[in-house]
Amino acid sequence: MIKLKHIEAIRNGDFTGLPISDTSTAVNMTGSWKFFRPTLKPKKSPCLEACPLHILIADYMQEFAAGNHLAALEIIRRNNPMPAVTGRVCPHFCQSACNRTDFDEAVLIGDIERALGDLGLAQPYSVENQVCHEKAAIIGSGPAGLAAAVFLARAGVKVTIFEQSEAPGGLLRYGIPAYRLPRQILEKEIKNIVESYSIDLRCNHKIESAGLDNLRKEYDAVITAP
Ligand code: SF4
Repeated sequence: MIKLKHIEAIRNGDFTGLPISDTSTAVNMTGSWKFFRPTLKPKKSPCLEACPLHILIADYMQEFAAGNHLAALEIIRRNNPMPAVTGRVCPHFCQSACNRTDFDEAVLIGDIERALGDLGLAQPYSVENQVCHEKAAIIGSGPAGLAAAVFLARAGVKVTIFEQSEAPGGLLRYGIPAYRLPRQILEKEIKNIVESYSIDLRCNHKIESAGLDNLRKEYDAVITAP
């Protein structure tokens, strides 16, 4: 309901604090549209919100659409060290949240990630020349161990991974069937990571509890990612 104080304020040209529903055309013949303005509230895109890795999807899509495929790959790699893997095994939560479904269908984010990931299998990771003198040991070379290795190496930490099995990959190798994640893709992805970041990967190397104490003495940090 419009109040006297509102009428007085409107006459004085002061519309602040005036709720839309209280604005009567009896006192303001043009209605509220004349002085209320839409506001732009920056929000994250729904695909980015839905992605567990918070990949900057809209940013890399723009690069991809412009034909800058390597630039798009670099944006993905900032948050996701294994796009050829996730492009195949992630249930693409991003697509379920895609706004485009209201128009026709979701952007095929997972497929594009997979294509860029495959392109990246022959592209070494860009390594900044940042060296610190700390060493980290990672126990386990599954997705968590490999991701930890990449982000530590990017921070300049010298990384050693201890893997009890004869080959790296953990869950990716022993938990996901090859028809879903072909082994040659996994091999190339891991090889690229290990070589790009000069990671010391030691397979057939099981760490028992006594060995864990030794690692704690020898390394600045120990991460268990079995
Ligand atoms: S497919 Fe890629 S971008 Fe989409 S949710 Fe999975 S990891 Fe994130």
